[in-house]
Amino acid sequence: MAAIAFTNATLFDGVNDEAVPGMNVLVVDGKIEAVSDKPLSGGDSVTEYDLGGRTLMPGLIDAHAHVFAINLVEEHNRNIAITEMTARAVPRIRKMLDRGFTSVRDVAGGDVGIRNAIAQGFIPGPRLFVGGPALSQIGGHGDHRNLTDDSLDIDFNASAFNFECRIVEGEGPLRSHVRNELRKGADHIKVLASGGVGSPTDAIDQIQYSEAEIRAVCEEAAVRGKYVAAHAYESAAIAHSIRAGVRTIEHANLINAETAAVVAEADAYIVPTLVAYEVTAQHGAELGLSEYVMEKLNYVNDSGLKMLGLAEKAGVKLGFGTDLMGQMEFAQLQEFVIRGRVQRPVDVLKSATSVNAEIVQRDDLGVIRAGATADMIVVDGDPLTDISIMNAPEQHLRLIMKDGDIYKTDLTAK
Ligand SMILES: [Zn+2]
Repeated sequence: MAAIAFTNATLFDGVNDEAVPGMNVLVVDGKIEAVSDKPLSGGDSVTEYDLGGRTLMPGLIDAHAHVFAINLVEEHNRNIAITEMTARAVPRIRKMLDRGFTSVRDVAGGDVGIRNAIAQGFIPGPRLFVGGPALSQIGGHGDHRNLTDDSLDIDFNASAFNFECRIVEGEGPLRSHVRNELRKGADHIKVLASGGVGSPTDAIDQIQYSEAEIRAVCEEAAVRGKYVAAHAYESAAIAHSIRAGVRTIEHANLINAETAAVVAEADAYIVPTLVAYEVTAQHGAELGLSEYVMEKLNYVNDSGLKMLGLAEKAGVKLGFGTDLMGQMEFAQLQEFVIRGRVQRPVDVLKSATSVNAEIVQRDDLGVIRAGATADMIVVDGDPLTDISIMNAPEQHLRLIMKDGDIYKTDLTAK
């Protein structure tokens, strides 16, 4: 029995608005055994960390990331064998855990293999939730083919291999695809329901897939207790996705107040990914993004903060995502600072803990309470009053625990 006690913690439990000083937390065999303001006895074998008032909070969850997006420019991710892709993704994945992200939802590309390899301890990294390739219609956000590639059947995926996306059209083929991904163990399914930034031929405001096609995907996911995430920017595409049964809307930068109310009414989530636009707008051109892509990027970047205000006002549940491709991944924690320009720090922290845990359908994550999985971090200072602390891990992030194991710390046990 491996027991670890944290004493004298200021506890932000991921759910309540206030952090409570003077708290003690006992971890036994990967689970949180007890949380109390009284001394806890874990027996002789317990390893104790006196936190001296530092903040103890749930491990962070990123609900929108791409572990295999090793290059910013999508074309550079082609013609790379899956073995090389995996090898190159390993440091990228480890750095996410180094930043305090103990769970990550991959919403295009991440497969059950990489998830299982991490779970089995072969690769250090966050617990992954995966959906395989995102689904795209022909000419949609996932169709990166050349003009000269004119094929109209399923084999076109082989001719323009794109690990992140798969072109599947029509209710029948979509149902087969979803059944197959869920057979392999996918945690969710992602559909591309509107135009996007990184793709060569689709305008942002384009609605993609028919409602019937998205509904077929949602039905197949629902019968297995899973759900569908949809990439969508404009209100029309968002409303279209919600009507078809989608549970999480990714990005949503261009939503209006009326559609925000529709999302709230459906009890669905929005997962903003604001840092991706801000940082990519700064570095994209020098890294080789085309002028067309940069133009679309600036268009959605400008509206991100407005979306947060509209969504909060409508009562939409906001997740926390980053969507950083390739070289941009260093900025993962900057999302806290950007969100903090509009939201209260505690609401941003809840998004990255308990709300994201709801999104990944795991009520034992994103929270510090007896019985929960012991994913926790220790932060110097009070992120509930100064959210920028989250963006300076080298000074403030002092301990990372995943599944009850201390992955990293510079604190000394008693
Ligand atoms: Zn994405």
